[in-house]
Amino acid sequence: MNTRDEANRPRILIVEDEAALGLLLTYNLEAEGYLVERCDRGDEAELRLLESPPDLIVLDWMLPGISGIEICRRLRARDATRALPVIMLTARGEEGERIRGLSVGADDYVVKPFSVPELMARVRALLRRASPERIAGRLAAGDIELDRETRRVRRGGREIHLGPTEFRLLDYLLEKPGRIFTRAQLLDAVWGMSAEIDERTVDVHVGRLRRALSRGRETDPIRTVRGAGYGFDEMFGRA
Ligand code: CA
Repeated sequence: MNTRDEANRPRILIVEDEAALGLLLTYNLEAEGYLVERCDRGDEAELRLLESPPDLIVLDWMLPGISGIEICRRLRARDATRALPVIMLTARGEEGERIRGLSVGADDYVVKPFSVPELMARVRALLRRASPERIAGRLAAGDIELDRETRRVRRGGREIHLGPTEFRLLDYLLEKPGRIFTRAQLLDAVWGMSAEIDERTVDVHVGRLRRALSRGRETDPIRTVRGAGYGFDEMFGRA
């Protein structure tokens, strides 16, 4: 793993005192490509958050040291972490307390026991909402431009007609140039987690996207990494 790649990966802090659940979440979030840190005490979490805030925090409600709700309140009171996405985990008996969790500024909450894919989907949704690139209506690299509002793609002034899947695929790849996504990650992000689709489908759509983007001798902006997956070439348009 090189440092550039690490710098591109969202950092997630898990604060959970149930060791088995903490490990399960760490394992699954790492498998999705996130950089994961974990701690099992509220006071320890507080120190880490002061040192270097992550991109998102998964925060248990009941914790030794400082409670999740108090951590959340403090996060919201500091400029550096005011907008940090927080997913709160609550036990079933604490459900009545949800409103309090949301009132201190948690962005989302999940009631235990929850399904891991559901939590993963919420993590993705929150990161997406929080990331400034998402707010931008337009993505560009080299002579390729993608406009999210008009759903138009252009290369060097010529309009490129993409199907809806190819459009989403390009949007997703263009958002993180240089990052290589596995077929499973692309299926999940572009087709949706419920999709029961063969991974070869990804190859078919990447092929279509490539043919649409590059004519004649134009440089192919999409990288294929054998055995790994696909990504948008971060050197595209710079060479
Ligand atoms: Ca707990």
